[in-house]
Amino acid sequence: MAQLIKKIKGTEDILPRDSYKWQFVEKVLADEARVFGFKEIRTPVFEQTALFVRGVGEGTDVVQKEMYTFETKGGESLPLRPEGTAGSARALLEHALVNEGLPIKANYFTTCYRYEKPQAGRQREFHQFGMEVYGANSPLSDAELICAGASIFERLQLKNLRLEINSIGCPKCRAEYHRALKEYFESKKENLCGTCHSRLEKNPMRILDCKSPICKEIAKDAPKIIDFLCEDCESHFSAVKTYLDAAEVKYTVNPSIVRGLDYYTNTVFEFIAEGIGAQSTVCGGGRYNGLIEELGGNPLPALGFAIGLERLLMVMEAQGIEIPAPDKPVLYIAALGKEAEINAFKTVKTLREAGLEAHFDIVGRGLKAQMKYADKIGAKFTLVLGDNEIAEQKAQLKNMETSEKTEIRLGENFMQDFMAILLASENKFN
Ligand code: ATP
Ligand code: MG
Repeated sequence: MAQLIKKIKGTEDILPRDSYKWQFVEKVLADEARVFGFKEIRTPVFEQTALFVRGVGEGTDVVQKEMYTFETKGGESLPLRPEGTAGSARALLEHALVNEGLPIKANYFTTCYRYEKPQAGRQREFHQFGMEVYGANSPLSDAELICAGASIFERLQLKNLRLEINSIGCPKCRAEYHRALKEYFESKKENLCGTCHSRLEKNPMRILDCKSPICKEIAKDAPKIIDFLCEDCESHFSAVKTYLDAAEVKYTVNPSIVRGLDYYTNTVFEFIAEGIGAQSTVCGGGRYNGLIEELGGNPLPALGFAIGLERLLMVMEAQGIEIPAPDKPVLYIAALGKEAEINAFKTVKTLREAGLEAHFDIVGRGLKAQMKYADKIGAKFTLVLGDNEIAEQKAQLKNMETSEKTEIRLGENFMQDFMAILLASENKFN
């Protein structure tokens, strides 16, 4: 026998028995995006390397270590997208979306690829839902975006979720901060990890995001950006907080949040869940006013967030949040004999045209096995068709829950009889 082919390390299958959970969450996300005025954007899975080097930042872990790159037949090396923002920013510029009026609000559902050590809540292919706003600089837009995130988690009934916010200032206030940070880390240099040594040279703020426990410990006492904010950044942050208070969105200010991507400015935030272990950040986002210019456009303020869907589903599962199971099929028709089979085929077709899930035997099972299958898929009703039923154009419709049998006409009267029985049974349960 040929050897079985296994999935690639760090990837996961979403199986038919579980996909309804994803569909449920995606529907809530899409619906929240809609009420907040967002429209979906879909961009390619691979882009030019320069997009992420410039858009995400050369010194970031994502670009330095995690990018998934493949070689095309033409010998060009292209990365699979590690995140959703850079692609949507590129599309905005390429299609001059600013001409369509500001702000532009776009949301996305994407797969992302990062070469990381696979573990619970950390995969090499994973899914993100993101919301992006372009052309809004008011602190109201920060508050509105954070509010959209909070509203999503509320609708999904997540508990014990912490919203942590911070401001990482603008390049102006950051210059002074970098100096202070560098000075601090220089004095602790011998204990920092190898990667942080090079971070110290290129971008000391990245050290604050290091996952190594020793670096984390050292970073605890590092100077805080929040103490270095310029007047504008300070008043922006203070207004964001005022608006969040007004919207009754609870948050804590965590001066250690800096986010892992280079393009962030001013507001940054994370939603953190309890009880799912180390990978507890389900959503990360903030403002990135420098991004569009970095990608060659005219300066345009921007902000957004991304939710990791695997982590979101993990939290929901850990918290026992019930996701409504899909509707059961309304009917299974067991057919015996050629004529009955054709009748079953046609009847099922009529039901499906009316938007109802109906089944009949397509694998050639005997009656007993067919009924067992009907039970397994949870069909609400079953109908057995044999020569007699076809001859008389009548059959017994069995309610699988109550075992009650009702006579039903076949042929053109079938739908009318069936719908009446189905509706009566549903009313009984409600
Ligand atoms: P982390 O610090 O956990 O690595 P990050 O800062 O790299 O997260 P972002 O780039 O902000 O994450 O991505 C937004 C969200 O996407 C994260 O909050 C998380 O929920 C999810 N995410 C990021 N990387 C992965 C991954 N490798 N596998 C699954 N989900 C991920
Ligand atoms: Mg990461």
